[in-house]
Amino acid sequence: MNAKVWLIGAGPGDPELLTLKAVRALGEAEVVLIDDLVNPLILEHCPQARVIAVGKRGGCRSTPQAFIQRLMLRYARQGRCVARLKGGDPCIFGRGGEEAAWLQDHGIDVELVNGITAGLAGATQCGIPLTLRGVSRGVTLVTAHTQDDSPLNWQALAQGGTTLVVYMGVSKLDEVRQGLLEGGMSTDTPVAMIENASLPQQREQRTTLASMTEDAASFELCSPAILVIGEVAGHQAAGLIQLTA
Ligand code: SAH
Repeated sequence: MNAKVWLIGAGPGDPELLTLKAVRALGEAEVVLIDDLVNPLILEHCPQARVIAVGKRGGCRSTPQAFIQRLMLRYARQGRCVARLKGGDPCIFGRGGEEAAWLQDHGIDVELVNGITAGLAGATQCGIPLTLRGVSRGVTLVTAHTQDDSPLNWQALAQGGTTLVVYMGVSKLDEVRQGLLEGGMSTDTPVAMIENASLPQQREQRTTLASMTEDAASFELCSPAILVIGEVAGHQAAGLIQLTA
């Protein structure tokens, strides 16, 4: 039997948002590598496993990616059942794709297990539907932070007509605002900034594209946070008032 690594999405934080499949895989794991932003409460599903923290907030300051990959390979080649737990979904800004390919190139079977991505959970927790008939016919997930600092196609994002969900944007708020304004997005486009989505310490701030940088500063927005940009970020607030009135 080939060695196998599970790449598992741990969801946005709330341990109840874990999938049953993730729970099963964790129950079988002998070694669990736990990434940044994974709620440690999730480890209750793998009391039998050796747990290794490999994220920036997990103990080591920043475990190099190559080291993490070699660690997974070493344990898998020893015949151990390895699970790598990542925040949200492993393939949404989570390096799941590159890790899976690398492991497969080294003869290891990989099973990816979906998790609920932070953008989806954050919006839902705040009552924002990312798509809404007649308002938003799509969603674009985008990272504000790229490896090579290459610019986003702001014009396409501004004019695409979909809800934008921006990950890793806290330190790039001004860039996001500028890019979208220059790309033609309206200054009064609603924006929701959602910090620690699905956790007890979740906070949200509604604003507009024009005011988002100033409002984030007075709100003291901190990472991890997502931005939801588009009509739906304002629409649901009104919808909720109607529903409860
Ligand atoms: N794979 C993850 C994303 C990892 S990138 C996923 O699918 O969710 C890290 C970014 O995700 C953070 O900078 C932040 O933008 C977002 N993020 C992760 N967890 C979050 C949370 N609980 N609340 C808000 N944003 C979160």
